[in-house]
Amino acid sequence: MIRLALLGATGSIGENTLDVVARHPERFRVVALTGHRQVEKLAEQCQQFKPRYAVVADETAAQALRQRLQAAAVDTEVLFGEQALCDVAAGSEVDAVMAAIVGAAGLLPTLAAAKAGKTIYLANKETLVVAGALFMETARRHGAKVLPVDSEHNAIFQVLPENFDGDLARAGVSSLVLTASGGPFLHTDLADFAAITPAQAVQHPNWSMGQKISVDSATMMNKGLELIEAHWLFNAAPAQLEVVIHPQSIVHSMVRYADGSVLAQMGLPDMRTPIAYCLGLPERLDAGVDKLDFARVGALTFNRPDFVRFPCLQLAYEAMQAGKAAPCVLNAANEVAVAAFLAKRIGFTAIAALVEHCLDNYGHQQADSVEALLHLDEQVRAAAQVWVRNHYRVLNQ
Ligand code: NDP
Ligand code: MG
Repeated sequence: MIRLALLGATGSIGENTLDVVARHPERFRVVALTGHRQVEKLAEQCQQFKPRYAVVADETAAQALRQRLQAAAVDTEVLFGEQALCDVAAGSEVDAVMAAIVGAAGLLPTLAAAKAGKTIYLANKETLVVAGALFMETARRHGAKVLPVDSEHNAIFQVLPENFDGDLARAGVSSLVLTASGGPFLHTDLADFAAITPAQAVQHPNWSMGQKISVDSATMMNKGLELIEAHWLFNAAPAQLEVVIHPQSIVHSMVRYADGSVLAQMGLPDMRTPIAYCLGLPERLDAGVDKLDFARVGALTFNRPDFVRFPCLQLAYEAMQAGKAAPCVLNAANEVAVAAFLAKRIGFTAIAALVEHCLDNYGHQQADSVEALLHLDEQVRAAAQVWVRNHYRVLNQ
C-alpha cells in the first residue's frame, strides 16, 4: 500500500492521477490532497478519497473548504499556505508525493519531499528548470527516488537500461531524442502570429492540459523547459539532447544508442500512461487508456524544429547552455509572460520578447542556494511586470 500525497490535485495531472488511483484502491491510500483556488473541486475529491489532510491557498479558501467538508461529514483536516504544502509533502504518514503544482510555486514543496527522502513522481518540471542542480543533489543526498511523469522523460526512462546510473556513455547512449507535437501553430502563417488569442493558444491538437503548459506548448517553450528537465534528470550534456517535431504525439520520446539502435516508447497521448507507469513501478497497471490503433494513426512523421517560428525554444536552449541561474530567469520571465498573455495584456509574440529581455538583463547571474534562486525569481518577476505594464501602455495609447 503506497501512502500518497498529491500536490496539485485539482489540476489536469492531479485529476488524471486520481483517475488511475481510483482504479486500484487496494494499492494506494490518499493521505493528502492539495489545491489552490478550486475549493469546490477539492471538496468533491476529499469526499471521494477521504484524505487525512487537504491544503489550499489561504485562510479564506480553507474556511470555505471546511464548511463544505463539514456539511458532507468528511473528516479531513484543512490546512493552508506554502508551509502546509511542504509539511504534507514531507510528513511521516506519506511514502510518495505526486508533484503536480504548476510553476515555480511547486519548488519548495517538491524540495521538501526530496529532503524527506520520499519517492517523488515529478510532473512539476519547473522545479528542475529553476533549481535542477540543487534538487537532484538534495534527492541524491536524502535517498529520494525521482520518477519522471512528463511524458517525454517518462518515455526515455522506460527505454533506458534498467540499471542506468546517470552515466549515458557507459549505458551506450549517444543521445536522447525529445519529440514535440509543434502545438497548434505548427503551420500557421508567421504573419498571423501577433494576432494569436489565448483561446487559440490553449487548444492543443493532441493533449488536454492546464492553461500554462498549453501556452508553453504553443510557443514551444515547453520543449525548451523539457530540454533542461532532461539535462538534469538524465545527466545529459546539451550535445546529447535532440528535439524532433512529431505532430501525431504517438512516439513520446526516444533513446539513440551507440550501435545505431533507437528505442522509442509509444502510446496514445494520455497522461494516465506515464502516471500509471510511475505509480505501478515495477508492475504495469491498468490506466484506463484506449488501445493504440496503428491503422487509424496511419503515418508517423518527423521534422526538424523551426527556431524562427519558435524563438522560445532557442532561448531555452541558450539558457541551458549558459547554465548558472539562466534557466531560473527564463522560467520566471516565462511565467509572467504567459500569465500576461492569458490576461490579454501582451500579444503572443511578446512572450519570447519578454523572456529575451529578462535573460539579457539577469541571465548571467549566479545563484546557488534556494534563497538566492527565489530572490532572483522575485527580481525577474518584478522586472517582467514593469515590462508588461510599459508594453501594455504603449499598445493602448
Ligand atoms: P493545472 O493548471 O491544470 O493545475 C495546477 C495545479 O496547481 C492545480 O491543482 C492548482 O490549484 C495548483 N496551483 C496553482 N498555483 C498554485 C500555487 N501558487 N500554490 C499551490 N498550488 C498551486 O496544471 P497541469 O496539471 O497541467 O500541470 C501541472 C504540472 O505538471 C506543471 O508543472 C506542468 O508543466 C506539468 N505537466 C503537465 C502535463 C499535463 O498533461 N497537464 C504534462 C506534463 C507535465 P487550483 O486549480 O485549485 O487553483
Ligand atoms: Mg511533456
